[in-house]
Amino acid sequence: MNNFDFPITRTDTPVPKPDMDKLGFGQYFTDHMFVMDFDDGTGWHNARIVPYAPISLDPAAAVLHYSQEVFEGMKAYLTRSGDALLFRPFENAQRSNNSSRRLCMPVIDERLYIEAIKALVREDYDWIPDREGTALYIRPFIIATEAFLGVRPSKKYSFYVIMSPVGSYYESGLMPTKIYVEDEYARSVKGGMGAAKTGGNYASGLLSQEKAKAKNCSQVLWLDGVERKYVEEIGTSNAFFAIEDKIVTSPLTGTILPGITRDSVIELLRSWDMRVEEDRFTIGDIFEAHENGRLSEVFATGTAAVISPVGQIMWGERSITINENTTGPISKRLYESITGIQTGMIADRFSWTELIPKP
Ligand SMILES: *Cc1c(COP(=O)(O)O)cnc(C)c1O
Repeated sequence: MNNFDFPITRTDTPVPKPDMDKLGFGQYFTDHMFVMDFDDGTGWHNARIVPYAPISLDPAAAVLHYSQEVFEGMKAYLTRSGDALLFRPFENAQRSNNSSRRLCMPVIDERLYIEAIKALVREDYDWIPDREGTALYIRPFIIATEAFLGVRPSKKYSFYVIMSPVGSYYESGLMPTKIYVEDEYARSVKGGMGAAKTGGNYASGLLSQEKAKAKNCSQVLWLDGVERKYVEEIGTSNAFFAIEDKIVTSPLTGTILPGITRDSVIELLRSWDMRVEEDRFTIGDIFEAHENGRLSEVFATGTAAVISPVGQIMWGERSITINENTTGPISKRLYESITGIQTGMIADRFSWTELIPKP
């Protein structure tokens, strides 16, 4: 495919827009979706924009049995001038391909991947919400569609992009969360799929999430799968800890998801002459740093909330409160800087954003 003029079939029945003050997350979907098919031999073909609708799959489709699937998550933001911005979409395209390679799925040309998203955003442009803190969440995903029950890579796939207007994660400013340290179940191990954004990783995490909820915590803190002591991630976001004059986060050694927000946070902190270390550390180190008064801030990073400060950590019978359960200065500065760049309010000196002019 060498031109990006995708055929469009418009819906006859556009749905009414939801109340933009009560969007929540991932509850409403726009009028159209992007679809493209793959089979061995032809490669990717039949790229098109069609009305958002249920999809039809053979009950033997490989994705339904062995979870050959990858996905991404990103957002389009409306700027004050009425244009839209994507945040580092090339990183999403590349990461999707890395996930696909891990699951023996075909890669997609990164330019095509991004142009598909841009075309769909242009088509459903009036779905981008304009209230502060809101955005159009974009969910690209690829599924194995070949009908067969053997265990081998599928010969057929479909790539979809769907979109959902989402509300502000924070109703009244950044709110610190309470998190639960999971020391029973593991999210991933070295050599596993932890670095791929694939459905199976999230299905395996649901039970721990329910445990966290039962303890009144909003997220799980994941430890390494072997020794259950090294800190890896917080829920579906990356974890940062400010200890004395440095900020530590787990290294990318294959067990955690290489977050784009994580990468942006590291780059910003270093540009502010702050010390960032990507090094292994244990949950014991964190509790000890707290005891000695050296732990000043904890926060999680990801596309959904951008920066999510952590106010409390529960680990077995122990519980610590960080920074008096308030949002610390580093979290606040990062949140303001990143959301400022994403919405075009702050100059983008890193060339992170991609413009979609108002159609
Ligand atoms: C998506 C995701 C993240 C965050 O990645 P971003 O690119 O920053 O949104 C972190 N951890 C997991 C497990 C994820 O699925």
